[in-house]
Amino acid sequence: MEATVSTNAAIWQASLEKIAERVADPQVYDTFFGSSKITGVEGKHIYVAVNSPVAAQVLSKNYARMVNEVLSEVTQTDFEVEFVYDSNPEGKKESSKEHPVFFPNSAPDPNFTFDNFVEGESNRSAYQAALMAANAPADIYNPLFIYGGSGLGKTHLLHAIGNAYKAKHPGKEVLYVTADGFFDGYVRFLKYIKDVKDEKRGNELRDYFRDRVDMLLVDDVQFLRGREQTEETFFHVFEVLVAAKRQIVLTSDTHPSKLEGFPARLKTRFGQGLTLSVTPPDQETAEKILWTKISAYGFKKGDIDEEIVTFFAKRFSNNVRDLEGRLTQLFFYMSLHPGEKIGLDEAKKAVQGEIEAKEEKERLSEEKIVNAVADYYYLAPSQILGKNRTGQISLARHVAMYLIRDVLDLPFARIGAYFGKDHSTVISGVSNVEKSLKTNPEMKKAVTALKAKLKS
Ligand code: ADP
Ligand code: MG
Repeated sequence: MEATVSTNAAIWQASLEKIAERVADPQVYDTFFGSSKITGVEGKHIYVAVNSPVAAQVLSKNYARMVNEVLSEVTQTDFEVEFVYDSNPEGKKESSKEHPVFFPNSAPDPNFTFDNFVEGESNRSAYQAALMAANAPADIYNPLFIYGGSGLGKTHLLHAIGNAYKAKHPGKEVLYVTADGFFDGYVRFLKYIKDVKDEKRGNELRDYFRDRVDMLLVDDVQFLRGREQTEETFFHVFEVLVAAKRQIVLTSDTHPSKLEGFPARLKTRFGQGLTLSVTPPDQETAEKILWTKISAYGFKKGDIDEEIVTFFAKRFSNNVRDLEGRLTQLFFYMSLHPGEKIGLDEAKKAVQGEIEAKEEKERLSEEKIVNAVADYYYLAPSQILGKNRTGQISLARHVAMYLIRDVLDLPFARIGAYFGKDHSTVISGVSNVEKSLKTNPEMKKAVTALKAKLKS
């Protein structure tokens, strides 16, 4: 379900009316439910904040069943209520008037939850660790460091952690910030202490974090690079939060050890907790993500041809953001052609531009592979693409075909077209290499070296 603040308020309002009918004593109702509100929804749990620890306890023990029944009447969904104590149910921080907001828009985005994240082989460990960071913050791993390519769900997981934690601990402060946002906040802070000189509040940003931040989520930490002052400050903030057992979660495009332009001590700190990667989704996960998005758009399974989903998942799954983008294009195309039956051909038409761009990229990759193979065998690329069938040239050609098939996963016919051969020639070339790999150490060495080179 959409867990927006306004729908939560409406649900709770409707529920309270029914609850009031069922709680015989109005004073009991006022005491326990008076200033209650829904603070978050996570999976089947609805978190309701109340104004005292005693109220949370009494309600959990004596009223949870009744409230669950009411919630299921109101929402037509089976939820389990969890009562939590919120010292400040109006959501006002006592000192918010005392100084400016250094980190505006730092609340986690409610649109990204664990609920609408599809777990698969490619993100399983990161997903599980994220759940753990939300449920048992700083208990085991601090920081949690998630890295991987663009569009693979890192930002989504970061927000999900913040949202799940907030739902359970409404009084706690979660700060979601990008590396750039951290830099901007730091600059605001410097300006503030220069103008105000407030000794009591401390003139270190780390004191501000120690006093006010319970969980720190920093997105795309690689962009802190090269700003020495900011790095230094971040280092101190990091240290003070870890010492205070507050969970830190970081994301980046690379493994901490590979972060360029960072001081060694920061890289070491980044890697001292748990470091996990997200990778492009496999076919099954990509399809599942697509179906999830399709239903989020209000479509049902039968509305979209399964062939289309399979095709999109196969073609665009290097990046989930792309995958979503193609779906949006498809919906746009459908809205321009109302009533038309949309099959695979129409779907391809809808994303034609993207397919061409991708093929261009693959063509470049084919070229890259042929060049690398030519290099390895001391040949010219034109010899590999030519017609000469003497031993070494023909061998190199087969290796190139094999690598294109293996690395780019292109259809045989397409590889054939690239070499000016038909697809059966490619099939036999590729299978020669496959056979040789089993028996010939030279071949194994060549393929291993070339694959390593292509990856760099
Ligand atoms: P990153 O931060 O790694 O570049 P994002 O978290 O911004 O990627 O993800 C890009 C888009 O793809 C977002 O809309 C996100 O919701 C979606 N997305 C990525 N992975 C998943 C997943 N496993 N399940 C559902 N949506 C996903
Ligand atoms: Mg991101």
